[in-house]
Amino acid sequence: MLCRLVWAEEYKSKDEPIFAGNMKYPAAHDLALERLNFADENGAVRGFVENRGQNFDLRKLGARESNDAVSGVTIIFCAVDERSRKLRVVGWYENATVYHKLQKPKKGSIRGNWEYYFEASSKDAHLIPGTARDLVVPRKTRTTDKGFIGQRCVFYPADNPNYERFLKSFELLRNDELVRGSDDIDQSEFQEGQRASRETRYFARNPKLVKAAKIHYGTSCLACGFNFAEFYGDIGEEFIEVHHKRQMADDKVRLKTVADVDVLCANCHRMVHRRAVPLTLAELKALIREQQKPRKRA
Ligand SMILES: [Zn+2]
Ligand SMILES: [Zn+2]
Repeated sequence: MLCRLVWAEEYKSKDEPIFAGNMKYPAAHDLALERLNFADENGAVRGFVENRGQNFDLRKLGARESNDAVSGVTIIFCAVDERSRKLRVVGWYENATVYHKLQKPKKGSIRGNWEYYFEASSKDAHLIPGTARDLVVPRKTRTTDKGFIGQRCVFYPADNPNYERFLKSFELLRNDELVRGSDDIDQSEFQEGQRASRETRYFARNPKLVKAAKIHYGTSCLACGFNFAEFYGDIGEEFIEVHHKRQMADDKVRLKTVADVDVLCANCHRMVHRRAVPLTLAELKALIREQQKPRKRA
């Protein structure tokens, strides 16, 4: 299930600043109980979503009417960020328990009297850092559109064909996270890899733009001049990587012209992505020039 929250960076403290967007209740009351959704308390997290004070219809999660709770639920949390105003996935619980009614916290809980609907083990609670919340949740674009998350904060995307692609992307994100959690791969390498595969997927879906870029720029690296066909012969014919000049913040970004891209050899391409904000072509060329200067003798 998909739950809309207010935007926060940590969801770990009652005083954390939030962005409520057009969610009227939290804005008016400065009350957003979801601010503690990722706060660990004795190995567990407890979650809230604004549900207009109503009980949860657990039948939508496969329970019988008489059940008080359902377990084994994946809860995807999303929120609108202040800058782009897009609805983005901020994190999720695996294997969570969803209660029919609001639950009162135990005495002495960090929650005080903040009630909750969800419970999960802390190791099953995955919060995405604010700068890496790339997955955008589809919303209606016209008032006549049907079958999108609307004003309500709780939505069941699996029932809805509009969310098929979103759920596939979420699966990728989740698998990435499980891989990341399972061993100690270098984080920056991992993020580079993610960016690269996102870019590759994008261009695989947009062959026309790739073709146009090759015609416009040729197939030699714009930064270092490397040409695959010259170096490797026939097998390198027509090969060059296309790089998206802006960051691939999400899959919705539409590139229209060759002005939005550069062509780079594989080495240069990896280098521009060594920084969270990719180096520009001019910056990379300056680095190469700097490196090739004859060193002055001391
Ligand atoms: Zn190059
Ligand atoms: Zn790139």
